[in-house]
Amino acid sequence: MRKFWVAGWFVVACWMAACGGAQQHGKLTRMSAAEGAVALCSHEVPEAVCVRCHPELVAKFKEAGDWCPPHHRPESQCLLCHPDLKFEPLPPLPAEADYAEIAVADGGKPLESFAVAGTVTIVDFYANWCAGCQNVETALRKLLADDATLAVRKVSVTDWESPAVAAHLSDIAGLPYLVVLGRSGKVLGAIQGFDEATFAAKLAAIRAVEP
Ligand SMILES: [Zn+2]
Ligand SMILES: [Zn+2]
Repeated sequence: MRKFWVAGWFVVACWMAACGGAQQHGKLTRMSAAEGAVALCSHEVPEAVCVRCHPELVAKFKEAGDWCPPHHRPESQCLLCHPDLKFEPLPPLPAEADYAEIAVADGGKPLESFAVAGTVTIVDFYANWCAGCQNVETALRKLLADDATLAVRKVSVTDWESPAVAAHLSDIAGLPYLVVLGRSGKVLGAIQGFDEATFAAKLAAIRAVEP
């Protein structure tokens, strides 16, 4: 188990290290998002926010902590660190959605304790430097808009000292990672990684486990 933990997080650690180490990784903000069919510049970034096209925007991104030092561009524009980066804005969270953030200190509590009684709960382990996690967030918000019976609990993994890591991610290959809890609060299944094309089907298959 321990060996698995090291192997799994080694992947994340290496991926982070490829960009100059965890400490140097900036925050992926939505500052590079753009609405609709926007024109991408030669840097494959929405032209209006590209710091290589508009160097005067650098200070604004650095101030927000959205900066990748090794590549001299915002984290939210660094396709070298995040090939799966998307620029679409986050869909609005439906007002009636049962959506809540678990405190980092509580991230190690039993999964069942995150369950919302009588409904299916998706526990979403994420990090603010994980582009795949942002794509999960977009998918979850679209789901919540269509299905008011779902609940979402977000668990932030700030680093591998976070309580959630030892408790729930010991044999997981990396983020994003979702656990689906049934109406009874039991674990129905989990999804590691994010693939937009198969996400809905995977989730439906897991939910079907509970009659
Ligand atoms: Zn550009
Ligand atoms: Zn980078």
